[in-house]
Amino acid sequence: MTHIPPAIVWFRQDLRLQDHPALLAAIGQDRPVVAVYGLDDASPGIWALGGAARWWLHHSLLSLDAALRRCGGALVLRRGQACHVLPALVAETGATEVHAGRMHEPWARTADAATADALRAVGASLTLHRTATLFDLDQVRTKTGGIYGVYTPFARTCRALTPDAPLPPPERLHGPTLKSDRLEDWDLLPTKRDWSAGFRETWQVGENAAHTRLAAFLEKAVHGYDTGRNIPGRPGTSMLSAHLHWGELSPRQVWQTARAAAKQTGEGMEVFLSEILWREFAAYLLWHNPHMPEQPLRPAFTALPVRRVADELQAWRHGRTGVPIVDAGMRQLWQLGWMHNRVRMIAASFLVKHMLAPWQEGEAWFWDTLVDADLASNSASWQWIAGCGIDSQPFFRVFNPVSQGEKFDPDGAYVRQFVPELARLPDAVLHAPWLADAGTLAKAGIVLGETYPRPIVDLAQGRDRALAAYRDTVKRAA
Ligand code: FAD
Repeated sequence: MTHIPPAIVWFRQDLRLQDHPALLAAIGQDRPVVAVYGLDDASPGIWALGGAARWWLHHSLLSLDAALRRCGGALVLRRGQACHVLPALVAETGATEVHAGRMHEPWARTADAATADALRAVGASLTLHRTATLFDLDQVRTKTGGIYGVYTPFARTCRALTPDAPLPPPERLHGPTLKSDRLEDWDLLPTKRDWSAGFRETWQVGENAAHTRLAAFLEKAVHGYDTGRNIPGRPGTSMLSAHLHWGELSPRQVWQTARAAAKQTGEGMEVFLSEILWREFAAYLLWHNPHMPEQPLRPAFTALPVRRVADELQAWRHGRTGVPIVDAGMRQLWQLGWMHNRVRMIAASFLVKHMLAPWQEGEAWFWDTLVDADLASNSASWQWIAGCGIDSQPFFRVFNPVSQGEKFDPDGAYVRQFVPELARLPDAVLHAPWLADAGTLAKAGIVLGETYPRPIVDLAQGRDRALAAYRDTVKRAA
């Protein structure tokens, strides 16, 4: 019998068995397969995985290994840069092909070129497949062949294209048994102080859990999603972002399942699909603007006179700004590794406008604390809020955190959950406790400045300061 060399499937942000073109290409006609995940802390530089992302990754790798074992395979874990790890695996196994999903992060593109060279030098090839987006990001073009800079026409073009149908999972796998790192030795879970209790209560990680969450969302919340998605105190959104980021579910699986369910639903489903396209647009922007995570897409805003006040930044990070909806969001982020989108916008706007801090500070904190931390969505969203992206909200739009709180958390359910020291305040002053009279505060057991902070920034002054700085910057650039 002729010996068939195995092929390597290199798992990255596509930790699933279903709809996995790289896995299926590796298997080919029942070829032996080596499934590997490589932990590379060197290549990403400042964008190495944050703490919350590591927590998710640990559980997702456990889940993927279990799924592979059910099919007769196993996950090999190796630490190091792919340009070293993969040629070593080629030498161990005699593989001549490596198949992997394409990542859109600039550091990954550079690393992939080095990996392809290193593999070529040992007689093997690297083939990248689309596992993370609906479409090939080079193929979505304007009528004249240009790159979209604005979401609406981009989304219109995407909607006119049909994503390929998702691929089936492999039925069985076989391949050589290889040495693997022990997952526990990677220290992906908190090592000093365990901050992950809220994570464990909130998340079921892995491919099966992702499908369960999608099904539950399509069964219920999607029906009122067009309005419910803005109410952080209620479960009105899918909470699929981390599953999508880690690729436990592919966007085309989401698209197809949602479309199939669309017959019974209306506006909610359309708005949901447009959010999936926002994710696609963020990946597209990053692909075509690799400097997006660090530099404003509108260069004029590099000159914005920002403030870096350590105490204020620390208060923002830990939900001690004295502005209830902002603090609730930042504490939700810390406890769950996730924050509701409406509140992400409010908390981000407070940082870049009222505090006039650099958006990159907020981006970095979110990077470390979000389980769905995604270089494309995170940087595109921060630039959108800061008004320095290509398709951003206008810079003079400043979210008022009090009226936003009153509008989107009218019964105070969200603030009361995450800022329990304010729970006994009546709704009328819940979003602005500094306006409450002494009797009301006393009755609610609050001493401002002691049990709950006074606002670190006067909202009206902060707004005016931001508008002046932004206007001045735009004027100087004109
Ligand atoms: P749903 O409302 O159920 O939306 C469905 C899916 O659409 C999401 O899972 C997500 O994949 C995608 N989506 C929704 N809104 C957006 C958006 N505005 N931009 C891109 N994709 C979107 N999302 C991330 O996945 N990772 C990030 O690091 C991230 N950072 C953000 C930073 C800021 C400052 C802001 C304002 C938003 C950020 N978002 C990020 C976008 C959005 O807040 C989250 O995707 C959303 O809150 C996730 O919750 P969900 O899955 O319940 O969303």
